[in-house]
Amino acid sequence: MNSQYNKWQIAVRISGATAMVFAFSGGAFSLAYWLTHWFYSHHEVRMPEYLLQLVNWGLGVFIMILIFAVVNVLVRPKQRAVWKEMMDALKRMAKGDFNVIVDQDKKYHGQMGDFIQSINDMAHELKQVELLRQEFISNVSHEIQSPLTSIRGFASTLQREDLSPEEQKHYLSIIEQETTRLSSISDNLLKLTTLEAEQQQLDKKRYRLDTQLENVVLACEPQWLGKELELELALQETEIVANEEMLSQVWVNLVHNAIKFTPALGSVKIGLHSRENQIEVYITDTGIGITPEDQLRIFERFYKGDKQRTRTADGSGLGLSIVKKIVELHHGDIRVSSRLHEGSTFKVTLPFE
Ligand code: ADP
Repeated sequence: MNSQYNKWQIAVRISGATAMVFAFSGGAFSLAYWLTHWFYSHHEVRMPEYLLQLVNWGLGVFIMILIFAVVNVLVRPKQRAVWKEMMDALKRMAKGDFNVIVDQDKKYHGQMGDFIQSINDMAHELKQVELLRQEFISNVSHEIQSPLTSIRGFASTLQREDLSPEEQKHYLSIIEQETTRLSSISDNLLKLTTLEAEQQQLDKKRYRLDTQLENVVLACEPQWLGKELELELALQETEIVANEEMLSQVWVNLVHNAIKFTPALGSVKIGLHSRENQIEVYITDTGIGITPEDQLRIFERFYKGDKQRTRTADGSGLGLSIVKKIVELHHGDIRVSSRLHEGSTFKVTLPFE
């Protein structure tokens, strides 16, 4: 559709240019004819017909060249200015300044207009990437800063000599917790950056997805038993071709969240079934739920839900972005549905190979 439109556009442009050349040359030759006739009639010049035609033709060509030269002189400074503007814009972008708009008044159309538009689009995209990068750095610094501050505070308290052995033990356990948190942040960051750079073929293999889900649930047993949660599994025997380690990370993160955000005595249900050409896994909990506003943002890096409600739960807000990235690398999809204070369901859909 688009290419046909382009063909039409090209045809219209070629016809326009041809018509213009014809109009110019027609005008030039008519003017030459009129001038030579005026000159001959006033000066009684007698020449053979072929010589008259030759002079006519020569003068016509000369006038045409003159017209093109004049048009060129008039148009060139305008073109030179826009080229300069474009070069300046590209130079600024190369130096990292993306606040660039070429031809703000949209004076140029056609091919030149398209070219200018693509420079402006590129500047806009690069500006967005730069903003994301800055936000990422400030989030990382913030996440690292809070455990570091608390480690520093407790380490300095521990230097006091009047502390009882219980107090010392308590402060040391906080320091231990905070270092574990720091190490998990750095681990998650590393995973995320590795995943984002992942361009190569995933190392996929065929394996039983239901067995993998069972193993993840078994590995989290201490956590859900500790909260006396009821764990229900409805797993259809399913084979999948995927990167086993990466998908295991997806289930670990989702199941951990379900346990983390479900109060004691609640329940978590994990289901797996295949339909047509896709596999569906859902993890449903009877936990605190997620507000509609948070549902829109929880897959963003570092996004943590309402601090008031989730204050008992630690985390860096990276778990779900890792999940989303892995699911996308497998050409799948993840969706959340939730009701506040009632619970949440995360549904992962993966294609069959
Ligand atoms: P975190 O490490 O903070 O858990 P995630 O990326 O895994 O980071 O989750 C982001 C946010 O999504 C959490 O802070 C929480 O507010 C919300 N969330 C994720 N899973 C659940 C769930 N099962 N129930 C309620 N809220 C959830």
